Amino acid sequence: MNSTLPFFNWSLRKALNTEKDNLSKARIRIIYAMLLFSILKTIIVIVIGAAYHQNEQVARAAVACLFYIALTKLVLYKPQAYKTAAHIMVIIGIMIVTTSIFLFAHSVNLQNLQFVFMILLGSFYALGGRWGVFYSILAVLPVLVSFFFYGADYNTIQTSSYQFASTGLIILAILNFISLITVHYLFYNAFSETIAEKERLNHQLENSITQANKLAATKSNFLSTMSHELRTPLNSVVGISELLLEDNPEERQKENLKILQLSARDLHALINNILDFNKLESDKLVLEDVNFRLDEFMQNICIGLAKKARDKQLDFKLEIDPALEHTTIKSDPTRLSQLIYNLVGNAIKFTERGGVTVRLSNIEKKHSQAKILFSVADTGIGISPDKHDSIFDLFTQAESHTTRKYGGTGLGLAIVKQVLGLFNSSLILESIPGEGSTFSFTITFDLVATKVNDQQDDTPKRKNLSTLKVLVAEDNDVNRLLIKKQLEKLNINATLAVNGVEAYNSHCNNDFDLILMDLHMPEMNGYETTKKIRSLKDRMKANVYIIAFTASISEQQEILDTGFDDYLYKPVNMNELYNKLEKAALEKQLITA
Ligand code: ADP
Repeated sequence: MNSTLPFFNWSLRKALNTEKDNLSKARIRIIYAMLLFSILKTIIVIVIGAAYHQNEQVARAAVACLFYIALTKLVLYKPQAYKTAAHIMVIIGIMIVTTSIFLFAHSVNLQNLQFVFMILLGSFYALGGRWGVFYSILAVLPVLVSFFFYGADYNTIQTSSYQFASTGLIILAILNFISLITVHYLFYNAFSETIAEKERLNHQLENSITQANKLAATKSNFLSTMSHELRTPLNSVVGISELLLEDNPEERQKENLKILQLSARDLHALINNILDFNKLESDKLVLEDVNFRLDEFMQNICIGLAKKARDKQLDFKLEIDPALEHTTIKSDPTRLSQLIYNLVGNAIKFTERGGVTVRLSNIEKKHSQAKILFSVADTGIGISPDKHDSIFDLFTQAESHTTRKYGGTGLGLAIVKQVLGLFNSSLILESIPGEGSTFSFTITFDLVATKVNDQQDDTPKRKNLSTLKVLVAEDNDVNRLLIKKQLEKLNINATLAVNGVEAYNSHCNNDFDLILMDLHMPEMNGYETTKKIRSLKDRMKANVYIIAFTASISEQQEILDTGFDDYLYKPVNMNELYNKLEKAALEKQLITA
């Protein structure tokens, strides 16, 4: 309005302030401008009509003028009613056109045509498409009908029996043109403002997306760095406690060492949960395929959990379907243990009396696959039905006082749900508040055929790996010492390197069968070192067996894409270390099966 009608600026601004969206503001401006022009035109008609004693014209113009003034007031004081004003304005316009054609002019003249155009514009711009079409038809109809009655001879315009004073006609025609131009100008302004606004918003949106992505990347980097920093010393605690436990400590020390190891493993599981959620959100996780004995695996995980339960004076039972004993499956033990650890951890945490039962039931076992139902039942506080959905959300706990009373992060079940998705399974919850809860899920595993011999021998004999020439690249002093000691237990005397550059040089100057390569090292990291080794001219050296040695359980894809042969998670457990080395030695035909 500022530039178009400065005289009324003060009052319309007030009216415009009440409207928020640009389209409504533009419509108010257009109606306002049309009304002002209409008032002006009716006043001119009244003055000139009176001078020429054209009383019917004067009367009609006066009535219309009063209506227009009333409508202008309405728009100014009650801008929300602008649509009502527009309807009335358009209807008056149609009445003026109809009366002009049939009562006064008996033909279609320039003013009538201009009026029809104004009605078209006003109805479309102010009232939208449907009303626009409706009123346009109403406005055009009298013109069409007049052709039927009076023909389409425009020469009659000037010579018809009725003639409004010619000066008046010229002024009105000019005013009509000006109002047509003004309405278009206002509409065009609103249109270009809308486009500019859209571009501005798009720009803002792009900025916000970039910012959000940056924040997400920072969060993700922070979590990875923190988890790595926390895990490095923790790995040493877990590893050293395992080594100490293997050194036949006194009974009294054994108990303390076990507690130390369990606490470190708990903390380790929590850190993995945090890091995993980060990776799960970005779909970076894939399942590993490792052969392992399901019953042994379950018993191993449950040792620590059973101790936790006993400490709370709870019964702990692990019931494995006899049909599943001595069954070797091909799956991802890390992810499976994460599921069990989280569910059983919760069951113990939320149970004060009674016990926790972990059950593995064989649903269907064919020669190559087994469908197994895992269930974790407790006699704890239970979960009310209205919380059954929300507890699976990230950082959500059933009751607000849960953290205070039981601790926890609200991360566990969200992770379980996501990890089960990787297994194409889902979690089922049955619970009665005050009586307990049962969480269960079903997974179909590929079975691995094992020799009868293996099945009967629960502690298979380790092969002699002492001839393996192993290079370890690890920058952390404690971890280096730890893996060296662990390898010594397997009678392997490893060569040590403190970074990628040293490892690469050492490999070029010696003949190693296998390299255990830490990923995050100064000078040259494990990925770069491996790529450099793989591109060596000497094919023997280039194809050396390299195992990624990592604390991060979420980089499998990256590891395999880089050209590593396998990976080993820290903290390294003696059995895993042996299994991976044995697998490498068999593949390289350094030992026989
Ligand atoms: P956290 O255990 O760290 O709080 P979870 O995601 O593992 O987070 O669990 C979310 C919530 O679900 C818990 O805070 C608790 O309120 C409820 N919940 C989970 N498991 C059980 C259970 N076995 N018995 C009772 N409530 C449970």
